[in-house]
Amino acid sequence: MQRLTVLGATGSIGVSTLDVVARHPDRFEIVALSGHRQIERLAEQCLQFAPRYAVVADAAAATVLAGRIAGRVTTEVMHGVDALEVIAALPEVDTVMAAIVGAAGLRPALAAARSGKRILLANKEALVMTGDLYMREVAAHGATLLPIDSEHNAVFQCLPPQHHQGVRRILLTASGGPFRRTPIADLANVTPEQACAHPNWDMGRKISVDSATMMNKGLEVIEARWLFDTPAERIDVVIHPQSIVHSMVEYVDGSVLAQMGNPDMRTPIAHALAWPERIESGVSPLDLAASANLVFERPDFERFPCLKLAFDALKAGGGTPAVLNAANEIAVAAFLEHRLGFRAIADVIARTLDQLPGRPADTLDQVFSADAEARAVAARIVAQQAGAAA
Ligand code: NAD
Ligand code: MG
Repeated sequence: MQRLTVLGATGSIGVSTLDVVARHPDRFEIVALSGHRQIERLAEQCLQFAPRYAVVADAAAATVLAGRIAGRVTTEVMHGVDALEVIAALPEVDTVMAAIVGAAGLRPALAAARSGKRILLANKEALVMTGDLYMREVAAHGATLLPIDSEHNAVFQCLPPQHHQGVRRILLTASGGPFRRTPIADLANVTPEQACAHPNWDMGRKISVDSATMMNKGLEVIEARWLFDTPAERIDVVIHPQSIVHSMVEYVDGSVLAQMGNPDMRTPIAHALAWPERIESGVSPLDLAASANLVFERPDFERFPCLKLAFDALKAGGGTPAVLNAANEIAVAAFLEHRLGFRAIADVIARTLDQLPGRPADTLDQVFSADAEARAVAARIVAQQAGAAA
């Protein structure tokens, strides 16, 4: 029996995780769930899985949740960031699904590493911010890190089991998002609704906007650099609009291994949950004859300046990826609230990076201060842009 904590249980990845878990009651037991502010959904999940603990954002949310489940399950309701760290490190838990979105997921993801858990990492921002610091914590505490991001899960499946003998390149595929063919001049006026209508994947709003700007792929390049200990020069991005090939590994002999499947996150989730075994995920089998032609293209940095910013941030190293990530979170939130145009997302990030060069990231405190500084600078730039537009 594998005993699980699901951080971010009420999100897109969390719901898919519980869907797979529910198919295998003989293999998995839910010990703890977190849901921040989606109390109705978390209450339903508590009633279905009867976890020992549930964590929400604050005391008010905790009172509401406790009221919803009182007398029906004995789940203990807790709140706050400390409580997220507690459920990530419980001695009775084997595996932690890290599926909180953004920098908010970093502390609990670190707590899971430091308590030697098997970590299923969806929360790419945590790794982007801390880079090798996170990988060192994983190694030092004997934790196991398994990638949930579909591209990285695909690479993991295509890499040789020992070392990376004979690997020439990692090829991350990208759908190109909803604006792959939109005239660049029209991008300034696209709405959050259009940006969140991803052609292939049904995801949370933040990552959907990241996919539309291709910052998502930029964050994934940084994520791949650390997960697979591979320098940026050996990580390439290929646009593949059908999202059937989830990524590839090229070997020195000319072989290219790809992992394919329908675009459904339950495949990488089931893979990581059961690894090294395989289990049913509920994903329908891939019908290659019925799929459209598989197309591959080179990405265009003019259309997707965020991708270039991410490659540059990775090269700059230190705290620069944390600055990039924080500025992106602020800019995307402003865009989703109609306070910033779509094209201005990249401008805000670029200007924040210009103002905060060379931030160190040797310690966690330094990472958090780079994150905080970048949030303040980016928020100021957003406010200026809004003022200029008004
Ligand atoms: P989502 O917005 O659907 O869900 C986010 C979850 O985090 C929710 O449970 C929410 O309650 C919780 N949360 C939000 N803010 C929080 C905070 N401040 N403190 C604690 N909890 C908070 O997001 P998602 O699409 O499920 O993505 C989750 C993570 O997985 C992201 O890092 C994303 O990049 C990554 N990811 C998602 C997909 C996908 O298909 N959705 C694919 C690959 C990677
Ligand atoms: Mg991905």
